[in-house]
Amino acid sequence: MTQQDFTLPDHQAELLEGFPADPHKRQNSSHVGNNTNPKHFTRWDERYVKLAGHIASWSKDTAQVGCVIVNPTLRRVVAFSFNGFPANIPDHVSLLQQRENKKKKLAQIIHAEQNTLLYAGREARGCHAYVVGRPVCNSCAILLIQAGIERVVAAPPLPIPEKPDDEWVERGRLALTLFNKAGVGFSPIAQKLLDEVFEDYNLDRPTAVESAPVCC
Ligand SMILES: [Zn+2]
Repeated sequence: MTQQDFTLPDHQAELLEGFPADPHKRQNSSHVGNNTNPKHFTRWDERYVKLAGHIASWSKDTAQVGCVIVNPTLRRVVAFSFNGFPANIPDHVSLLQQRENKKKKLAQIIHAEQNTLLYAGREARGCHAYVVGRPVCNSCAILLIQAGIERVVAAPPLPIPEKPDDEWVERGRLALTLFNKAGVGFSPIAQKLLDEVFEDYNLDRPTAVESAPVCC
């Protein structure tokens, strides 16, 4: 039996350059996996933030939110989704954008993070979650922690001068406290990048007038 040559042709080898077959080496060379500095943003972080912004634009809700869950070791998107009514519930724009009974509508919405975690399943463990549209709320934080997400990249909850006791800002703050206690990394998205993404995808902006950021 003659020895077969498994050497890759040059054009294929070039494609794999920088992507070591050894998973340990792969982990060490990850673009985002070794990012332990919460304020440090890699080029890939920026790309995933922009991707989450694009996905947010698919939501028909008044508050458009997108979430992307990424495996930092494999550098692969595991799942992505946006907020809206659950599957098989009519989601006509008029139903999602009604302002008369906002509370009732909100009670029927699945948040982008929740939706994405359901798609990711067990693969969410050890992943990073990118959220664009609204700060992460406490309900989503609980699920992200429990699913084994190691790092969250999102906008921090900002105080609304006109509404110092806003419920969603409080829930956003609680989310950060939970991440901190659970040892989940949190990287705030710079306002400049957020502004760029909101503009590029024409996303609705949480304003003080509308206020009550409809959560994530
Ligand atoms: Zn939420």
